[in-house]
Formats: sequence, C-alpha cells, structure tokens
Amino acid sequence: MRLLILGGSTEARQLAERLAGHPGFSAELSLAGRTKNPLPQALACRIGGFGGAEGLAGYLNDNRIDVLIDATHPFAERISENAVRAAKITGVPLLTLTRAPWAAQAGDRWTEVADAGAAALAIGAPRQRVFLTVGRQQVPAFEIAPQHDYLIRTIDAPEPMPALPFARLLLARGPFTVESERDLLRDERIDMLISKNSGGDSTRAKLDAARDLGIPVILIRRPQASARHIFYDLDALLGELDRRRHAGSPAERGV
Ligand code: NAP
Repeated sequence: MRLLILGGSTEARQLAERLAGHPGFSAELSLAGRTKNPLPQALACRIGGFGGAEGLAGYLNDNRIDVLIDATHPFAERISENAVRAAKITGVPLLTLTRAPWAAQAGDRWTEVADAGAAALAIGAPRQRVFLTVGRQQVPAFEIAPQHDYLIRTIDAPEPMPALPFARLLLARGPFTVESERDLLRDERIDMLISKNSGGDSTRAKLDAARDLGIPVILIRRPQASARHIFYDLDALLGELDRRRHAGSPAERGV
C-alpha cells in the first residue's frame, strides 16, 4: 500500500519511524521545507509545496498513492484544506493524525482567543513582559501592540525581524521541562505567556510552569478542521491502515 504523509510535526516523525521498513507499506514523507535544519527522518522525504490542492491531487495520481495521511501541525491550516480538496478530486482516502488539544486544569488562568491578532489585543494597553511562543510566522501579528517587552522563542529566527522595539529572541527547539520553563519564566519576570493550543507533550511544560507560578496565558484556539477521519492516537491510525491494507489485498477479498 502506497502512502503519502504530509509532515512537519512530531506525529509525522513518529509515524515515519513506525512505517520505516514495514513490508506492507511504501511510504513517503512530505515536508514544506520551512525549517532550516530539519531533524533526520526515518522515511524518504520530498520537500516543498505541491502547487495547491490541484498540484497535490496530481501528485497523488502520478505516484499512485493509495492513502493520503495528513499529519501536519494542527495550525498548518492551508495544507490541511488542500489535502481535503485533493482527496475529493482524486478519491484517494484521507486520514488525519493529530494531537488532542490541551484542556485547562484547575489553577490555569487561560484566555482563549481566535487568532494571533486577537492575542495581541488581549494583552491590554499597559506594558507587560510577554513570553511569546506562537511560531515565527505569527510574530508579525504582534506589531499592533509594540509597547510590550517580548521574549520571542522560535526554532529559526523570524525573517524579517518584526518591528517590535522591546523584543528579544530566544532560539530553541523543544521538548522543554517544567523546571526549565519555570526558571525561564521567573528569571525573565514574565507577566504573561502567549501560545497556540498546539497540544502534545513536547511543548506543554510552559503551561504547567505558568500554572505553578500563577501566570496568565493567552491561548490561540485551533483552526476548525474540515477533515473527517481524525486520529489522536498513532496505534489507532496504524490499525486503520492495516485494516484497509487487508481489505484491499486479493487474498482477503477471496480472489
Ligand atoms: P500552511 O500555511 O498550511 O501551508 C502553506 C503551504 O505550504 C501549503 O499550501 C503548501 O504549499 C506548503 N506545505 C505545507 N505543509 C507542507 C507539507 N507537509 N508538504 C508539502 N508542502 C507543504 O503551513 P504552515 O503553517 O506554513 O506550516 C508549514 C509546515 O510546518 C507544515 O508542514 C507544518 O506541519 C509545519 N509546522 C507548522 C506549524 C504551525 O504552527 N503552522 C508549527 C510547526 C510545524 P502548496 O500549496 O504549494 O502545496
């Protein structure tokens, strides 16, 4: 069974590790090519956009893909919509692998907002020390609130640097520990944390640290997904792939 995995996430990396060398699947991983030094991957990779939904549909046909798996980051909205459209155009089944969103616990001081612009406005007028962990693409949205002291953590530096006179950059890639996040929030005298509701374990420590220290969090809600077959669990997705593989094999159909 030929698989195309749309990746760029921890889930896609984990799926690639499980499929590498599997005799029943031939899988390729697709990356957008945004990260300068991507981590090594267990499967063969193709890098770069397809040219919209039609381009992706063409790729699925040309490469005789049996199942398309969208394992992109939950905030990668455009490629996920392209995947839905390409699956409709070609009839190739689409399965989505993602992480469950984070849910508030007792002691959390979360304000949930729709997007980065709303997050910038939700900080309020008085100058605050803000820990900004929204990914480099969303940073320019904070130029509408330039009065704050931002500590911006990203994997690669935003290009160009945003017009934020009191911003500093911290380049780092998770996972992070609760202890190190607590130290950072304390040492930097952070008043407020801003994050996307990405879900998953590798970056949730900052939320635990903020709760411990009573620091308010502005959390950007996930975009609404229009995909239908959504898996929050890697084993469940692998089980579904196996089921489809057996259902599709001549022996199982009694041929
Ligand atoms: P996006 O806005 O949804 O996609 C923009 C365009 O990039 C797409 O239309 C597509 O180009 C291309 N693209 C995106 N993902 C691709 C993939 N896996 N393979 C091939 N082309 C891809 O995406 P984004 O938010 O810029 O994210 C880019 C990548 O970074 C994604 O793979 C995502 O998993 C990863 N990522 C995103 C975030 C985030 O917060 N957005 C965080 C961590 C990692 P064409 O239309 O030309 O096909």
